[in-house]
Amino acid sequence: MGYSKIAFIREQPLLSNLYENLCKKDRMAHAYLLFGERYSPLLESALYIAKSLECQEGTFACNKCEACKRFDEGNHPDFILIDGTKGLIKKSDIDDLSKFFSLSALEKNRKGVYILNGIENITQEASNALLKFLEEPKGNIVALLTTSNRAKVMTTIKSRCEEIHIMSPNLFEIVRNYTGNEPLEEYYIASNFAYDEKAKEELMESKDFKSSYELAYGYAQELGENPSSAGYFLISGSENIKGNKCYNYFYIILSIIFTEVIIDDEKSPLYDLTARLKDKRAQIAKALILLGEYISKMQANMNFTFALARLIKIMEEK
Ligand SMILES: [Zn+2]
Repeated sequence: MGYSKIAFIREQPLLSNLYENLCKKDRMAHAYLLFGERYSPLLESALYIAKSLECQEGTFACNKCEACKRFDEGNHPDFILIDGTKGLIKKSDIDDLSKFFSLSALEKNRKGVYILNGIENITQEASNALLKFLEEPKGNIVALLTTSNRAKVMTTIKSRCEEIHIMSPNLFEIVRNYTGNEPLEEYYIASNFAYDEKAKEELMESKDFKSSYELAYGYAQELGENPSSAGYFLISGSENIKGNKCYNYFYIILSIIFTEVIIDDEKSPLYDLTARLKDKRAQIAKALILLGEYISKMQANMNFTFALARLIKIMEEK
């Protein structure tokens, strides 16, 4: 049956918060890319969101209504799952998808949802077909793509999606075995972007990632140690990072750190940092919603300095 509402909200605070807001504002986008570490519950999260979209009772799937039951039985008429972790996603899969939604002829008040699990395992031909499918406005259809190797996902696909980070409850233990040269905290954050060791190394060596990490981590550190000058630290440090790629890294890294403040788990490699931010939890909860909007590009083309100024304002609220 997968997640219950309570478990989902507890384990995925960032995602559930963002999802609830998108529903309330009626601003669901057409395509989301859920990414996270290899062991994070990517498919489970995507399934719960898909079921929630189809549930007849509330914002979050109730697991009791007719729609939820049919979904769990694997025979909901408006939902389809293609699993790239069990074999390459081929062009014929995308053709089936396209046929499925043209046949099901969605009525006005019905929503179509599909999941492409492990989207990095897609052939070039299939990805071209998918891009075409994503571009054609099909009314009420939501795509949920997942990957545990964000670096491997084609840029053209990423550019069509709004990205959401999925928390991994087991990641704390997994990263404990790290013996490399970089700080454990940085390795832990990098592990949220890529699962194999080589990809993590490459990420930590890239200037874009490193400078974005230093700014986000440094800002969180300042918030704990010198809150009155944290805003200044952020604005002056922001000159060191440039370009949308870096801005997105920054937003995602900061939301990973902030989410852990809310989760408050002593096992986290970030606990030394996040424990100092406990008294700012109310502000951080608000900041997470704003960061979610930035990451999912709900605030398109926003100037980076202005985006930071809004963030600083929230964090300085009493
Ligand atoms: Zn339901």
